[in-house]
Amino acid sequence: MNDTPQRILLVGAGLAGSLLSVYLAKRGFRVDVRERRPDMRRETISAGRSINLALSTRGIHALSEVGLRDDIMQLAIPMRGRMMHAVDGELTFQPYGKDDSEVIYSVSRGELNMRMMDLAERHEGVTMTFHQRCDGMDLARGLVQFTDEVTGEASTGQAATVIASDGAGSPIRRSMEKLDGFAATVDYLPHDYKELHIPPNPDGSHRLEKHALHIWPRRSFMLIALPNLDGSFTCTLFLAREGSPGFSSLQTPADVERFFANEFPDAKALMPTLTEDFFQNPTGPLGTVRSYPWHVGGTVALLGDAAHAIVPFYGQGMNCAFEDCTVLNACIEEFGTAWDRVFHAYQERRKANADAIADLALHNFIEMRDRVADARFLLMKEVGLALETRFPAHFIPLYSMVTFHRTPYAVALQRGKVQQGILEELTEDASTLGDVDFDRAGTLIRERLRPYAEEAAGLY
Ligand SMILES: Cc1cc2nc3c(=O)[nH]c(=O)nc-3n(C[C@H](O)[C@H](O)[C@H](O)COP(=O)(O)OP(=O)(O)OC[C@H]3O[C@@H](n4cnc5c(N)ncnc54)[C@H](O)[C@@H]3O)c2cc1C
Repeated sequence: MNDTPQRILLVGAGLAGSLLSVYLAKRGFRVDVRERRPDMRRETISAGRSINLALSTRGIHALSEVGLRDDIMQLAIPMRGRMMHAVDGELTFQPYGKDDSEVIYSVSRGELNMRMMDLAERHEGVTMTFHQRCDGMDLARGLVQFTDEVTGEASTGQAATVIASDGAGSPIRRSMEKLDGFAATVDYLPHDYKELHIPPNPDGSHRLEKHALHIWPRRSFMLIALPNLDGSFTCTLFLAREGSPGFSSLQTPADVERFFANEFPDAKALMPTLTEDFFQNPTGPLGTVRSYPWHVGGTVALLGDAAHAIVPFYGQGMNCAFEDCTVLNACIEEFGTAWDRVFHAYQERRKANADAIADLALHNFIEMRDRVADARFLLMKEVGLALETRFPAHFIPLYSMVTFHRTPYAVALQRGKVQQGILEELTEDASTLGDVDFDRAGTLIRERLRPYAEEAAGLY
């Protein structure tokens, strides 16, 4: 780079934007970050209750690359597996990985975002400005339009290049969609979500097993709960918008009480503010954004949810957005400030993978709400982990490839389909692990799967 560092305009200081600002500052760029919201470190934005996310290997890898891992992991609670809650209160625990090294981490979204903004601002080159709502971009002139949400003043921003990390509703993506050859779709599920709360015990301890992601699977809907550091759990109800059961049928406190008493009695007993939370907290939509292309020459590129928002059922949206930062950084390493080439290479390396995780996340909704309670499904999970132990060079369960490895999502999707066929054949007449014919498993695996390392190597 020249003596005068190039200035990059980054729109959106959310999870991906604040991480990318660190990557860019470390490369010596000046990064001008503009964010619509107030500075959440100084002003309370929501009622303040924690909303949490599952952080896993891809996200942790990105944090490690920029030296933030240790700081962020102080905020994280390991979750070793799924704890399923039946209506009668019976609990079934299913580990996520082959051992305790394979866990996912519950992290507060707000704390994570605030800590990353703090760490980003420690770099001299990073400036963050808040209350700056982006209204779109004049792509021909490379000008980004902003309105100050406090003063109402309009302004424009320009830089050597612009990166849009402005989330699923990205106004920059909407400007790009007006160009010939650009397209984006947003597909909403018929289900919405609502966050609820389980407070800590009076002594500050957790009221459910702390090191698990709790699931109340009920076929067409489900409740989940992730632990927070303060001893509470954040619960999320995923339920159809219309119909019965559906959000539209839960109109009064009595409706909500009845629904929870019938469907989630053990959770209800731990939720003293259930009805207040239910009617105070917003109901959010769940959508998948697919867009292409992701850049206009070297002028602007989309990153994270702005390019590819996904439904949350694989716990990968943020992890995937963080991996975008890893890949974009590798492209800068390769092509320097030839932004057109950087953005093109980044898009080509990411698009198929973003499409794959979008499909996997949609599929996992059915699995989480419906199949995790099914004996055959549980057996297949157990067999998958046993196959990994016996045939580690070939067989890694799909969930593990996505969550504990950095296997490109498209490769994980494709190998996952082959592995699923093998698991179905092996468990056809089996009811326990002891019934499985592992010699046959070895033959099927060698016939149908290339060694894992061969397939996954060198793809980033
Ligand atoms: C219910 C739910 C649960 C989830 N659980 C998980 C999980 O367990 N694990 C996981 O990995 N992912 C999860 N996700 C997905 C994850 O939240 C997103 O993928 C991630 O936040 C994407 O990061 P981002 O920076 O691209 O977008 P965001 O985090 O949405 O950040 C976008 C930023 O842009 C700002 N912005 C928006 N519009 C403008 C504008 N006009 N002008 C200026 N700034 C603007 C926003 O204020 C925000 O700061 C979940 C999502 C939901 C909805």
